[in-house]
Amino acid sequence: MKRVGTTGLVMEEPILFERSVKGRRGVSPVAHDVPKADMSALIPKRFLRSGSVSDGRFDSAVLPEISELDVVRHYTRLSQWNFGLETGFYPLGSCTMKYNPKVNEDIARLDGFTTLHPYLDESLAQGALQLMYELEKDLAEITGMDAVTLQPSAGAQGELTGLLMVAKCLRDRGESRSKILIPDTAHGTNPASSHLAGFKVVKIESGEDGCLTLESIKEAMDSDVAALMLTNPNTLGLFEHDIVEIASIVHDRGGFVFCDGANMNALMGLVRLGDLGVDVVQLNLHKTFSTPHGGGGPGSGPVAVKGGLAKYLPVPRIKKEETDGNDIYSFEYGSADSIGRLKAFYGNFAIMVRAYGYIRRCGPEGLRRVSEIAILNANYIKESLKPTFDLAHDDKPCMHEAVFSDSGLKELGVTTMDVAKRLIDYGVHPPTVYFPLVVNGAMMIEPTETESKTELDSFISAMEAIAEEAKQNPEKLLNAPTATKISRVDETRAAREPKLVWRP
Ligand SMILES: *Cc1c(COP(=O)(O)O)cnc(C)c1O
Repeated sequence: MKRVGTTGLVMEEPILFERSVKGRRGVSPVAHDVPKADMSALIPKRFLRSGSVSDGRFDSAVLPEISELDVVRHYTRLSQWNFGLETGFYPLGSCTMKYNPKVNEDIARLDGFTTLHPYLDESLAQGALQLMYELEKDLAEITGMDAVTLQPSAGAQGELTGLLMVAKCLRDRGESRSKILIPDTAHGTNPASSHLAGFKVVKIESGEDGCLTLESIKEAMDSDVAALMLTNPNTLGLFEHDIVEIASIVHDRGGFVFCDGANMNALMGLVRLGDLGVDVVQLNLHKTFSTPHGGGGPGSGPVAVKGGLAKYLPVPRIKKEETDGNDIYSFEYGSADSIGRLKAFYGNFAIMVRAYGYIRRCGPEGLRRVSEIAILNANYIKESLKPTFDLAHDDKPCMHEAVFSDSGLKELGVTTMDVAKRLIDYGVHPPTVYFPLVVNGAMMIEPTETESKTELDSFISAMEAIAEEAKQNPEKLLNAPTATKISRVDETRAAREPKLVWRP
């Protein structure tokens, strides 16, 4: 039998069904004193469905019978099983798992924001409209683009939005281009969004140094290519050094340049993508701009575009007009060229509030500092670990993340997965592993700007200790994690044979 409760910090938690005891109740409502209605007085009996809750028709539903306290303890304990940013270091590359200042949570919870109804008359929601209008302007400034929509609710939906706009623009030009060029280091959402938008994907191989080459783009760029979809910095954590020349090749042959802006944490205040020839970029407010993420929570993926694409942005747009010296904000629905709506109402508003608070609090200098320290921290990790683990690319400075391969591990009989699992024993969330796909056994480490040198040093010494164990005592890795409630799980089986139904 599973032991219930806590032993030190090790807890066992049976599912609620396993705790069920016949007849036990969470709440005991007072017996109702309303006489039973005779439905046949309203609806002729022959039309009435037979059976009802009270005659036991639903008795076959198996529900756990437990007390209120059982339920409270169950969920409280489960909540303590979570590992999050507020528990420890979380260097999950490509995800920008950084600490989000609590003040932005407070701001997002202000009554004036939380009690707003989306159908409220515009005249009564001027503050919210102004916030969205100004956030659009801020994001346009940060990216160097001309116009922004806040509507998409994730990075991936932002990608789809941008590609639908490209498709509409091409249709208006009377062109039927069918391909999107995507580098082999791309995030999986890039090809997925391209397919959803009706395009075919052409994979472009990165060059020796991990960046795109002019040659490969020249070769692939023909009159059937709608856009190049690249990520900058790319998912090896490297700045695409030829991006300007690459953009002009794409433009010369009538294509668009889409930049996946999920890595904006490395560029704020340093580089404006719009200055590099990018036509459309999505941002992930839940990565860069102060919304906690992971676990599939709400996101926000604004899209910023250059002027030529602005008329295709989703509706409604937010408009500012001056009347008698006052700024009046309103929604504008009537753009004939718009690709339409991507999401109910106006997007995930509370995330916009956090992003606005964050941008205003940091200011231009602060945002630049965020990116500088994110880059500094990643390089500190890269320099400190490169004697111990093999870098995934030439030894040159990285941007916001450092990527290592498993090439030094193989001869020791351990894998990237073993290192990742052993890190859990050291109290660290593993980095992103086996991505990007072009690196064998990739370990992609993104420390972000919010970690102190002390924290980075303790991570580095954990990695060094694990490398030493791999040589001296590889079973430590092969059996890891051992300090957790549940040790190594069979991940394939967990995905192939999920246990979704409990049978007594
Ligand atoms: C996270 C991420 C995405 C997708 O963003 P979601 O908000 O998760 O949809 C796309 N590209 C890159 C490089 C990312 O890191």
